[in-house]
Formats: sequence, structure tokens, C-alpha cells
Amino acid sequence: MAVADREAPPHELGELRERLAELADLRGIEQMLSWDQNTFMPPGGAETRAEHMATIERLYHHGMVDPTLGRLLDALEPWAADRDDDDDDAALVRWARRDHDKATCVPARLIEDMAREAARGYSAWLQARATGEFSHFRDALARQVELRHAYAACFPDAEHPYDVLLDDYEPGETTGRLRPLFTALVAELQPLVQDAADAGAEPNGGVFTGRFGLADQRRAILAILGDMGFEEETWRLDPSPHPFAQSPGVGDVRITTRYREDDFAYAFYSALHEFGHGLYDAGLPVTLRRTNLRDCASLGVHESQSRLWENVIGRGRPYCNWLLGRLQELLPGCFDGVDGAGLYRGVNTVRRSFIRTESDETTYNLHIALRFELELALLEGRLEVDDLPAAWNAGMSRLLGVEVASDAVGVLQDVHWSIGSFGYFPTYTLGNLMSAQLWERLRTDLSDVDEQLERGDFGQLRDWLGEHVHRHGRKLAPRELLRRATGEELRAEPFLAYLRAKLTDAGITPA
Ligand code: ZN
Repeated sequence: MAVADREAPPHELGELRERLAELADLRGIEQMLSWDQNTFMPPGGAETRAEHMATIERLYHHGMVDPTLGRLLDALEPWAADRDDDDDDAALVRWARRDHDKATCVPARLIEDMAREAARGYSAWLQARATGEFSHFRDALARQVELRHAYAACFPDAEHPYDVLLDDYEPGETTGRLRPLFTALVAELQPLVQDAADAGAEPNGGVFTGRFGLADQRRAILAILGDMGFEEETWRLDPSPHPFAQSPGVGDVRITTRYREDDFAYAFYSALHEFGHGLYDAGLPVTLRRTNLRDCASLGVHESQSRLWENVIGRGRPYCNWLLGRLQELLPGCFDGVDGAGLYRGVNTVRRSFIRTESDETTYNLHIALRFELELALLEGRLEVDDLPAAWNAGMSRLLGVEVASDAVGVLQDVHWSIGSFGYFPTYTLGNLMSAQLWERLRTDLSDVDEQLERGDFGQLRDWLGEHVHRHGRKLAPRELLRRATGEELRAEPFLAYLRAKLTDAGITPA
């Protein structure tokens, strides 16, 4: 290393960085277009916007598969191999090689087919969901499954075709490791739901039910997130039908939420979730700007941050105590007669439900386990698309004990399959598991974190996450990041222990 440090970097490094900067710009532009599309664009712009996005995607792919990029990497790899793994330039070369090789394995024709069929699949899904008729979605879905088989076949060395799909969202993750993880999780969660579920309960125990003006809700959310780290100079909060977070570039973090007049939790907890995503993006180091490393380690790691703020912190006792005071100040009269313990118990209410996005923390991973099972069965050829609705309903009955009344609240509820996002769902569960492991470690390092949260003091918490998660950007693979942050491999026990302790502490399950 000492030798490498004395040597001037090879001239190819500058050229590689220039090319990667342009590709990073394209990604940022793509994010801006998509943010606009999902917030303020009039619906009439959809067709042209799809063309804009396709052009950006084609330019990106073109740049990524450029043989010159491959030659630059060939020239730089021996030099990078002599450098420390944590060195920015070594990581830059390593991840550029991975992206270049993956892109070149897939014929341009297939990339185009996937983009076009995603748009078609999405329209077919919208129509099917509106009418509740799976038959309107059947052909588009069959085409998506066929395309995923074709995509997986581009990587003949993969141990399992599903590994190829997973790797796009969770680099290095494998079916072989996920299968036992989900089996163990399901076995432990089912009895827990049995004990904790309350058939008559309202969402969040009804604590957030009332009448809330939309402007008041937004003001309250901005004030609370402002206490937590949302900065007006660099963040935005806008309404959108589906909440999301995006950061097109340094100093520009955009989160969204949606509102319902009769339930403040609907907007608030979505905003808290997206705040966790936003804080990760805000914490990516400025030194990685316009590189392939100014990105998350994986979608699972990203979700670990959003779930940490939404659930582990946001539905924890100390935070609830602080939050109640702020809510009473910001929304006078709406939280009279509620105490901290009631708020805490309310937001941890367990209900068996049909819809994943509205499900509580305890049942949530059972919804994901079902999707993981079905995706594997489709990819392994054990399940035909025509049999999917029946398999869905049987799975919901077995895993969650609910009888699905219609496909609209069953197999048609998620957008993911319509646009070809197979292998995506497991990242939600990975995020949940990682958030509990990170939290366990964080509590050891910051022994008075509960007192800090009771006071509404979030600085040390943010610094810990910045140091152990955010500052790495995409330099570390997700499992490596977790290992360094916690000293552990990925496992389900910390999540289960955290959940059991909370449900008991909140008085939802007996001690
Ligand atoms: Zn999320």
C-alpha cells in the first residue's frame, strides 16, 4: 500500500472517473424525471415522459457496455488490486467492473423488451386492479415471468436463477441463504401473531383517528422532522400517491407522503419512513459525488434505515413519549386524553390484514414470506401463472389466517410484478432484520439513547448511523457493511427478540 500511495494514479483513472461521472449524471436526471412524474407532472405528460426515461436508460446502458470502459477497467485492475479495499478508487474500479460485466451479459434487445413490457405490464395491472379481474393481468404477468427467465439465463454461472434477480437489488444475496432465513422467521412469527393479534382493533389502536386539516398535518410533520434532521436548505417534502424518497444529487433530498383527513398516522408514519431513506441519502459522502459509489449498499440496507426510523425508533416507548408532547403542541386538541403509554400501545397494535403496505410490524414479514415463496415457485417452474391467485389465497390463509375476498385485495395489490421487479420483495424483510441488528449494536454504543430520544435529541443517533452506515455509500457489499457495523452475520433472532420485548412491554402480549 505504501508503494501504491507514492505512485501517481494511472492516467486511465481520470478517464474512467469522467465516464462514471456522466453515467452518474444520467442516473440523477432519471431520478429528477421520475420525482416530477410522481409529484407534479400533469397526467397528460405520461407518454412523452416514458420516452424521456427510455432515452436516458438507453444512453446509460450504452455508456455502461462501451468496450472502452472495459479496456479502462482492464488497465486499472492490477493497480487497484494493490490498494486497500476501502480506498475510494479501488472500490470505484471494483463496482464499475461489476456493473459493466452485468450490463454486457444482457443483450440490448432484451433490455429494450424489458423496458417496453414494464410499461405495458403496469397499464395492464392498473386496469386489472381497478376491475379486480386477474384475467386482465394474466398475459402481461406471464410475459414478465418469461422475461425474468430470459434475463436469468444470461448468467449461466448463477447457482439459482432467482440469485440473478436478487443480485440487482441486494448484491451478493442468494436464494440458498434466504430460504432458511424465511423458514425460521415464519415459524417464529406465526405463534407471535396468534398471541398478539386483536381482531377488533383499529389501525394504530385508533390513537391517530380524528379530523386533521391537510395543511396542519404538513406543518406538524415538517416541525417534527425538522427536530430530527430535515433541513430546509437541502430537503423537500411533497405530496404523492405513493410515498417515496429520492436524492438526485448532493444537497438535494426529496421525500413525499400522502394524507388522509381522518387518520394522521397515514401521513406521519409514511413521512417518518421516507425520512429514514432521506437521511441515508443525505449522509452519503460529498467526496463520492458524481461517482458510481454515491448510492446505497443495497435496497435492504436502505430499508433498514427507513424501518429503523419508522418502527424501531418511531414506535418505541421513548420516542412515543417525546412525540406525544410535540403532537399536543402542534395539533392542539387532537391528542387530548392520550398518554405516552396509550400512544405506544396504539402504534404497536397487531392486526391480521390483507394489504402488505397497511400491515403492522409484527405481521409485515409474513406478507413478504408469501411473495418470496410464490416468486421462487414461478421461477422454478413449480407454479403456473394461471394458478397464482389460488396459490396466493391459500398462502394468505396458511400464513396469516385470513381468507382473501377478492384478487384486488389479494394477488393484484402490489405494483412490483407488473414492472418485472421479481427478487425485490425480500429486501423489505432484510431491511427489517438489519434494522434490529443495527439497533442492538447502537444501544450498546450509545447506552443513554433512550434518554436522548425522550428529550428529542437525535444528534448522536444520526452521527452513529452516519459513521456506521451512511458514509460508506456503495463501497461495501451489504453483508460486509452489516458485519462491520454490528460484528455479526445477518440473522433473524435480534428482530424477533426486539419484537417480543416490545409487544410485552406495550402490554400487547402477556409478560
Ligand atoms: Zn422504504
